[in-house]
Amino acid sequence: MHEFSIVQSLIATCKRVAKEHEADEVLEIHITAGRLAGIEPHFIEAAFEILREGTICENSSLHVDIQEIEALCNSCQTNFSVKNFRFVCPSCGGDNIEITKGKGLIIDHIELR
Ligand SMILES: [Zn+2]
Repeated sequence: MHEFSIVQSLIATCKRVAKEHEADEVLEIHITAGRLAGIEPHFIEAAFEILREGTICENSSLHVDIQEIEALCNSCQTNFSVKNFRFVCPSCGGDNIEITKGKGLIIDHIELR
């Protein structure tokens, strides 16, 4: 499952950040997942429950926010949010668009102790 590798690298990042700050524990992890990243928050949370055991994240809580998709129309330069996966510019009706938000997974914030 693709969520497992995401969570593995998330925990690896937490370990590195905790070490850099000489922290003993990771209390909270806040991540933002783009709607286009194909990530199911439920699966991320389930994978986290399993993988955090015995790591610095053992007692941390994970918060997953979903970021909506935003795009820029290359024809008329309109910025718009994509609803229901309709990749068409609302202003000119063109489909020559570029996705500007909602593709990736971002770690917003990690709280350490
Ligand atoms: Zn347009």
